[in-house]
Amino acid sequence: MAEGKIIKALSGFYYVLSGGEVFQCRGRGVFRKHKITPLVGDEVVFQAENKTDGYIMEIRERKNELIRPPIANIDQAILVFSAVQPDFSPGLLDRFLVLIEAKDIRPIIVISKMDLTDHKTKPIVEKYANDYRSIGYEVIETSAVTKDGVALLLPYLEGCTSVFAGQSGVGKSSLLNALRPDLQLKTNDISTHLGRGKHTTRHVELLEIGGGLVADTPGFSSLEFNEIEAEQLPLCFPEFRERAHECKFRGCTHIAEPKCAVKAALEAGEIQSYRYEHYLSFMEEIKERKPRY
Ligand code: GDP
Ligand code: ZN
Repeated sequence: MAEGKIIKALSGFYYVLSGGEVFQCRGRGVFRKHKITPLVGDEVVFQAENKTDGYIMEIRERKNELIRPPIANIDQAILVFSAVQPDFSPGLLDRFLVLIEAKDIRPIIVISKMDLTDHKTKPIVEKYANDYRSIGYEVIETSAVTKDGVALLLPYLEGCTSVFAGQSGVGKSSLLNALRPDLQLKTNDISTHLGRGKHTTRHVELLEIGGGLVADTPGFSSLEFNEIEAEQLPLCFPEFRERAHECKFRGCTHIAEPKCAVKAALEAGEIQSYRYEHYLSFMEEIKERKPRY
């Protein structure tokens, strides 16, 4: 028996990457009986019939899974936010970060379209980049036009499974094309390969880039907090999480409790006020279970 990872699923076949080779596999009948569908990203045990074909015998327990696109065991999300066109949005970034933190996925922030910044917009974007770096996030500034910064992403991809995320039009396909020029994914229009129209079936595929695997379809298309509980939210803000043990009350929500280390840090200017405001508004949204933006 051999072990590998499903990198593509198409017409009843699962393509399993194992030791640098791809095996075209069928699922064992027992999966159908128990209604277990192997997913792209699954770690599997398979029986090779020959050098190219095989049967999947077992699916390893999943670390996490996304519904759109259907993909399992994601280690990392490359969050693409453009510096301009559209303008950098910390509110939307914080929303993505919470959703990603809650799934135990490592976020990498990419600020794209840096070539379009000028003397007015660049300092604003740089300030945000440094704020997020001081929280402990990796922030990479790129341009798919000049290719500046693009190669800085490669070491982060090595050895893990990544998915791109971010609003449409921020430059995700352009970045993937810059990383792997042989792909030539279409950019911009509604029916592009990455930002496909609603009626197209999605066949997600993991591509080998920079010694890792990257999904060719972006993730986190739903930005609602349906699966996040109020108690979980403070844990999705690393700068709150690391101070919570200094709060007087265990399980402090950092809102109205006395002797709260997070509020003290906020007053001391060690926590950015916009991050705290987003936290409050997300908390209300979770309590109401209604999306705000
Ligand atoms: P996606 O929807 O996130 O995949 O975004 P696309 O990659 O399709 O890019 C949207 C538009 O932004 C296209 O017209 C791209 O040519 C343009 N674009 C993407 N990245 C950059 C960049 O780094 N600099 C500039 N100037 N334009 C970019
Ligand atoms: Zn507190």
